[in-house]
Amino acid sequence: MRRYTPIPERNAQWNAANQPRGGGAENKRKGVGLASKLAVREPGANVGVSHGAEGAGSPTLPCVRWSSFHIPTLRGDPADAEAASHRLLLRAGYIRQLGAGLYSYLPLGQRVIHKICRVVREEMERIGGQEFYLPALHPAELWRESGRWDAIGAEMFRLHDRKNGDYCLGMTHEEVFTDLARDGLRSYKQLPQIWYQIQSKFRDEPRPKAGVLRGRQFTMKDSYSFDLDAAGLDKAFDLHAEAYTRVFSRCGIDSVPVQASSGAMGGSESVEFMAMSEAGEDWVVTCSGCGYAANLEKARSAPLAAQDARDAAAIEKFPTPGVRTIEGLVGFPGGAPAARQIKTLVYVVGGQLQLFLLRGDDALNEVKVAEATGSPDLRSAHPEEIHAALGALPGSLGAVGVASLPVWADLRLQGASGMTTGANHDDFHLRHVDVARDIPAARFADLRAVREGEPCATCEKALDVRKGIEVGHIFKLGLRYSEKLGANVLGPEGKELPLVMGSYGIGIDRILAVAVEAHHDANGIIWPVSIAPYHVVIAPLRMNDAAQCEAAERLERELTAVGIEVLLDDRDERAGVKFKDADLIGIPFRLVPGPRALANGAVELFERATSATSEVPLDQVVALLREKLK
Ligand code: ATP
Ligand code: MG
Repeated sequence: MRRYTPIPERNAQWNAANQPRGGGAENKRKGVGLASKLAVREPGANVGVSHGAEGAGSPTLPCVRWSSFHIPTLRGDPADAEAASHRLLLRAGYIRQLGAGLYSYLPLGQRVIHKICRVVREEMERIGGQEFYLPALHPAELWRESGRWDAIGAEMFRLHDRKNGDYCLGMTHEEVFTDLARDGLRSYKQLPQIWYQIQSKFRDEPRPKAGVLRGRQFTMKDSYSFDLDAAGLDKAFDLHAEAYTRVFSRCGIDSVPVQASSGAMGGSESVEFMAMSEAGEDWVVTCSGCGYAANLEKARSAPLAAQDARDAAAIEKFPTPGVRTIEGLVGFPGGAPAARQIKTLVYVVGGQLQLFLLRGDDALNEVKVAEATGSPDLRSAHPEEIHAALGALPGSLGAVGVASLPVWADLRLQGASGMTTGANHDDFHLRHVDVARDIPAARFADLRAVREGEPCATCEKALDVRKGIEVGHIFKLGLRYSEKLGANVLGPEGKELPLVMGSYGIGIDRILAVAVEAHHDANGIIWPVSIAPYHVVIAPLRMNDAAQCEAAERLERELTAVGIEVLLDDRDERAGVKFKDADLIGIPFRLVPGPRALANGAVELFERATSATSEVPLDQVVALLREKLK
């Protein structure tokens, strides 16, 4: 059955009536567009466009006409949009901003979102996932039970209902899913379970950025696995890793699984899926030798203990007026190069002031501090706290002679000698410091952030450090939530056992934005076929040319009949405008029934990704595109 109804007169009226609300500004400028030359589908067919759920393969797609479809493209680059995806999604009429970190998806954007969701659903169902849909509004009680109502700070949106009850908008759904599990899972015989949903999440991000890459409301596929033991969890974790790899590759994204820190969620193992991109906010350390890959937060390099010849000279205190930084001391007469300085940082860890020493040219990694000290509860000490404890302010601090506070030193300082450090006396430093001799209480640990070029801990090859965008994250939660919420099942021996859980997230909006980051050029977006809002745009050069319009209609009819998604650019615009817009919105294939090609019984085919142009006989277009869209 086709929904295509050639009723030229009615259509002309309908098009005219719809001009003011259809299309972008350019549509409004122009007149009726197709007029009676091109027969159009029934009024309202756009409304019935079903998103994503069908896609290629469905035989009854409605015809979609650009003149009445809302694609508000912008001529110039929007201000304040730095990331390519942000800029292009705005320009090409996919999204609009409502407020900080809040975006509306317009029809083209929503089609892409649905296609991504479809891929995610297929891959989740493939590993046995069952789809749920949970509220976004959560009563505080559950979050109090897990301890996260107090543990999470300003990132959580909190609100009251009319009875003054506390609520939050879900940042994630461990609590609610665990609640369902304790209610519904009774026996080990019901395990394993993988439960998922695709839902809005709300996080009051400190720096909402780059459009939908980091929003304050965004869509996540989150899933949770419930098992009887660690082996079950390992299996669910591996299944998710495979599913995620497939999701990203099907969406045209090269992803790298990297070791990650488990952060505030707790749990034993966690892997992030990173898309390498300059627009990223994460740093990823990789080794081309052995395949090691880790988030910089977690990354290690081969230990590089200092091999210094012993400087036997006694410590010497010297004045350094006004010197407050490592660089300041580098440039100071009688100072020291950064690599010969000891940097002293003071943190409050688990409520106690502690000193962390690094080589002057290294940076502290807070995740490693948490790991070394065994406490995730840490913050930089305030200057007043530091002064009260050490008698000096940051810039003049050191660990020599400090007996009352724990001192940690980075592995790179093991064996360091002839170093310069602060004297705990404002405007004074110490030289000839030998770490073993002068800071004997120091405990050594890997504390520094890995730097590009350092040797890999496994194979010694130089490490790469590049920016990446986290598109997915999988965690082994273990018993954390099941114990807190009392989610138990009866084990084979009749004993109550807490469920062993995992939690797994994919950012749907991030996939969309990352796909644009990875696939665009100076002219616009270049969608991978799998998530393109339409497969083909048909652009007649002149809307008052009967032959062109007829060919366009015929192609539209034949392509939609086999499930290929077509956008027909029926606007009464110059060819240049149509081509530019088609490039901008990124449709993979463009068909142009121009007079020269038509004279040969053919149509011109342009491939967005390669810019290849060819003439294809009209009766071979369907077969060729079906082949290319496979
Ligand atoms: P990030 O470190 O980027 O803030 P996260 O570690 O907080 O991410 P998770 O809690 O693991 O993220 O969420 C799972 C997935 O949800 C992420 O891998 C990412 O794809 C997506 N995501 C997280 N925060 C946002 C956001 N603010 N906007 C869009 N997507 C997000
Ligand atoms: Mg976050």
